[in-house]
Amino acid sequence: MTSEFDAAENGGSFNIADFAWFPGGFVAQARELATLAQDERWGDPAGAFRDDLSVLLYYLSNTARRLDEQHRFEFRTDSRGVEVGAFNIGLFTDNYEPIFGFLEQNEPDRSQKWKFRAWVTASDFRMRSFGDCVPQAASYFENPAELLYDRRLPLNARLDHIVDDNVDRYPDVLRDNRQLRRNALHGAVDEAIKRVQQSYKTAVPHWYWPTAESDGHMQLLLPLCLMEFSHADLALVVDRTPHDYAAYTVLHLDGAYKRARLVARPDADWLGPQPDLPEDAEQRWRFSSRGDRCPVCSSEAGCALSADNRVALCRTEHGDGERQETKRGATFFKHVLWGNADPAA
Ligand SMILES: [Zn+2]
Repeated sequence: MTSEFDAAENGGSFNIADFAWFPGGFVAQARELATLAQDERWGDPAGAFRDDLSVLLYYLSNTARRLDEQHRFEFRTDSRGVEVGAFNIGLFTDNYEPIFGFLEQNEPDRSQKWKFRAWVTASDFRMRSFGDCVPQAASYFENPAELLYDRRLPLNARLDHIVDDNVDRYPDVLRDNRQLRRNALHGAVDEAIKRVQQSYKTAVPHWYWPTAESDGHMQLLLPLCLMEFSHADLALVVDRTPHDYAAYTVLHLDGAYKRARLVARPDADWLGPQPDLPEDAEQRWRFSSRGDRCPVCSSEAGCALSADNRVALCRTEHGDGERQETKRGATFFKHVLWGNADPAA
């Protein structure tokens, strides 16, 4: 379950929770935002909990850090003489209206100068103080070429560094065997290079702040398929130098997804939400969403439905659903909605 979020840990030197007081808590306000914004899976892509908002919480606190760096929080005095503020969170409603966080000066005895009031659109009366000059969204690049992998440049992966770095991030079988790990890494890097040569879209841009105090910069992520050709286990972090791409480290896919989501919603197939479903679920699945609810429990997120709509994997125990567990320990209840439970029977 989502615990109260430590914004300081995720927002570097700028802590949105020190800057503004969020009535009801930062997580509760994040949930409000998720409801107002276009439907998106905001949990850890590999996560089991439907109310996990870890990607959104990371997005919120780090977008705030970037807005602060770029001086894009806007402040005005409204018609009542009250100090108000607003920031563009970079997300949109279903009607493609940008969403703003609206702030008001906090009570003088509070530690935060600002009080968060609501997520609003530009048409909200409270935004009138900003006139036509609504706050700008955070931006991460000036030249779109930074987002693309330049296939003319060589990739130099420092395998001897990478192989001993973050060993806990490797699949179990590779963790205890350095030689095996090195070989798998070598093959996976070669495959990643081939894949990005075929399609530059394989490389996913992400934003990286080396420390809480330092300036960030753009890096690219490439898939490392260590065990199976089509399944990425890790992301290779690639830095552009004047004459090549250098790779020193690897990231877990969930960490990679969070950092990439800060810049844009990743559309590379290898970094999308990785369904964590029971092993015998061989057909194609989609997760329930706002417009495509679970047929068993009506949930908007977390349950899965087979491509042919015949089988539902519901997260909630309900009726005679058959209990199933995934490798990562999530529990589903399988419901055959029509036809035979066992097609061979
Ligand atoms: Zn369900």
